[in-house]
Order: sequence, then structure tokens, then C-alpha cells
Amino acid sequence: MKIALYPGSFDPVTAGHLDIIRRSARLFDKIIVGVYDTPDKKLLFTTAERVDLARQAVADLPSVEVKSFTGLMVEFARQEGVATVVRGLRVNNDFELEFDMAMINRRLAPEIELVCLLASPDYQFLSSSILKEVARLGGDVEGLVPPFVADAVRLKVK
Ligand code: ADP
Repeated sequence: MKIALYPGSFDPVTAGHLDIIRRSARLFDKIIVGVYDTPDKKLLFTTAERVDLARQAVADLPSVEVKSFTGLMVEFARQEGVATVVRGLRVNNDFELEFDMAMINRRLAPEIELVCLLASPDYQFLSSSILKEVARLGGDVEGLVPPFVADAVRLKVK
């Protein structure tokens, strides 16, 4: 069984993340969406909330499971029997960061392969940070996240 891990902060899950998840679900038997509990960034949602929103967002995808993790991503991948890590690449900035992380992860766990999917044109500009900023300023976030995520963001930034 081919299991892939899609790790990230998911603060909150966006249509860009969901696009990567759906596309990965066509390539692998099972996808674990790994919600990293302590990313080096200011979070809007707690870990439990980020997991809960992601779970609701993938409820229609039977091969996708959402779990939080602590510590090294590759250790979590090993625990879960994952052979492949999936990441999404947007046109700006992502490549260098992903490249550096991939090199370190390869040193730590050479048996784990990385697969990067290119972000779809519609979501190239979309990040959780931009989404939160727009919501904070009262802008319309419809279409960038599922409706229940939009509601949760609006409530939080109020
Ligand atoms: P991180 O904090 O690790 O960057 P994110 O939750 O922001 O985590 O993103 C997780 C993964 O999803 C990363 O590989 C990121 O590049 C990718 N990603 C984020 N937004 C998009 C998007 N709009 N389209 C495709 N991939 C995306």
C-alpha cells in the first residue's frame, strides 16, 4: 500500500492545500495530512482546531486521514510507515525553502522520497497567511477556503 504524508501548518487549510490533497489521492492509496503542532510562525488556530477544519474539509475523501504531529516530520513519517512525502510548490519562494528542507530530510531519512506537485494556476497566489490577512481586513475569502473554514476564520479575527 502506497502511503503519502502531506505535512504542513494548515492554519487554516485552504483550497490550495485541498487541491494538492485531491491530486495526491489519485496517486497514492492513502494520504495522511500531517498537521505540525509547533511551526515557527504565529498561528491563528490551535492544533486541535487546525486538525478539525482539515478533517471536515477532507470528509468526502475516504483515503485521506488527518493527524497532528510533534517533532521531526521524518520521524512521524517513519512511525506511520510512509514512503513518500508530498509538498505543493507555488511559483514564488516555495522552491528554495522546499529544496533546503528536502536536503536536510534526505540526510535524516534517505529512505523517504519527496514528491512536489505544482500548485494549480488558480491557487498560485494563495497562502494561509494571505488568507488570514484578507479576512482580518474584512475582505471576501469565498472560494479560497471551504465555507465553514471562512466562517471559522471570520470568527477568529473578529
Ligand atoms: P508550511 O508551514 O510547511 O509552509 P503550509 O500549511 O503553509 O505549511 O503548506 C503546506 C504545504 O502546502 C507546503 O508544501 C506548501 O508549499 C503547500 N501549499 C500551501 N499553499 C498552497 C497552494 N495555494 N497551492 C499549492 N500548494 C500549497
